[in-house]
Amino acid sequence: MLDLAIIGGGPAGLSAGLYATRGGLKNVVMFEMGEPGGQITSSSEIENYPGQKNPGESGFDFMSTWWGQCSHFGLIHKRAVVTQVSQNADKSFNIKLDNGEIEVAKAVIVCTGSTPRRAGFEGEDKFFGRGVSTCATCDGFFYRNKEVAVLGGGDTAIEEAIYLSNIASKVYLIHRRDEFRAAPVTVEKAKNNEKIEFITPATIKEAYGDNAGLNGLILNTKDDERDLKVPGIFTFVGLNVNNAILKQDDGKFICEMDANENVKVDLKMKTSVPGLFAAGDIRTEAPKQVVSAAADGAVAALSALSYIENLH
Ligand code: FAD
Ligand code: NAP
Repeated sequence: MLDLAIIGGGPAGLSAGLYATRGGLKNVVMFEMGEPGGQITSSSEIENYPGQKNPGESGFDFMSTWWGQCSHFGLIHKRAVVTQVSQNADKSFNIKLDNGEIEVAKAVIVCTGSTPRRAGFEGEDKFFGRGVSTCATCDGFFYRNKEVAVLGGGDTAIEEAIYLSNIASKVYLIHRRDEFRAAPVTVEKAKNNEKIEFITPATIKEAYGDNAGLNGLILNTKDDERDLKVPGIFTFVGLNVNNAILKQDDGKFICEMDANENVKVDLKMKTSVPGLFAAGDIRTEAPKQVVSAAADGAVAALSALSYIENLH
């Protein structure tokens, strides 16, 4: 039986693996379907991790040293897709893999992260990371004193449009309806911001550019087509939290979730099920940053160490 199973090898999973192995656990497996590193490896630049040696390096380069450090202390990477985590009568956990295998662990830390939803317009994938972004905190600074667009009408889109207005020279807020899901007070604040221009109802027909990146967007507005010459668009059309592995055969989640189906945890990253922990983007109220995901992973591992120690 594994002492600890970590599901997901992004910043949260790797950090959990480092703290668990250095904390003395011998039999720790990190189940990661791809190369360790997580979603940040898809980012062209990261510059906000404290103490970073090369601010502005690619997310791939930034993460490239994390796995070696974990492996050095004995973390095992099993390249596999986990399909379900469930609990046995003796309180151990079954980790079901897509090849039919089942591994059993005393404790589990779920670090499967989230996936920003894609809006689906033409050119979105082509320019993702080269003008199309899903993270204003991360990439907003690259558009300092330039014009940018934001897509979406939820709280994230409106709040991030306000955030970007402090950096960019102008922000175009594109939303497909005249009504907003975002809190009215937030919408009002954005409408009173002279640097934000609302373009509603509007959809993006196409994003265009060249090898250097995005040059603009063709919009379908209620009157006509509009050519918006912006080097950046931030899309905030919702997030998919990767929570499917927590669903049981009866369709219910193994642990308590919040209204947005993020895992509810306490300050020790404990879920409502003893022995099951969650860290990073998947947990409730996550700031969705590398630094906070890594911190969560460390906290979860320390809690798991204490849980396993007290099992006997
Ligand atoms: P993730 O990084 O999402 O890692 C989850 C891992 O779990 C993935 O590797 C995935 O393959 C694996 N996984 C998922 N499901 C399964 C399964 N069923 N079986 C096996 N493996 C599974 N943050 C910053 O702080 N600074 C930035 O500059 C920054 N820029 C960003 C730019 C972009 C384009 C994006 C998309 C995000 C950016 N972020 C940035 C956010 C940051 O990447 C995330 O907050 C962080 O990666 C979350 O870490 P995590 O470990 O919780 O999850
Ligand atoms: P969200 O509330 O799901 O909003 C997504 C927005 O994107 C909606 O306006 C939606 O339009 C639009 N959209 C969806 N698919 C699209 C597509 N393909 N093309 C164009 N537009 C598309 O997502 P979110 O803003 O990320 O928020 C997620 C949750 O977190 C929400 O519950 C939110 O309230 C919460 N949140 C709260 C706060 C806060 O309390 N301060 C801050 C941030 C987030 P329609 O409206 O037309 O469907």
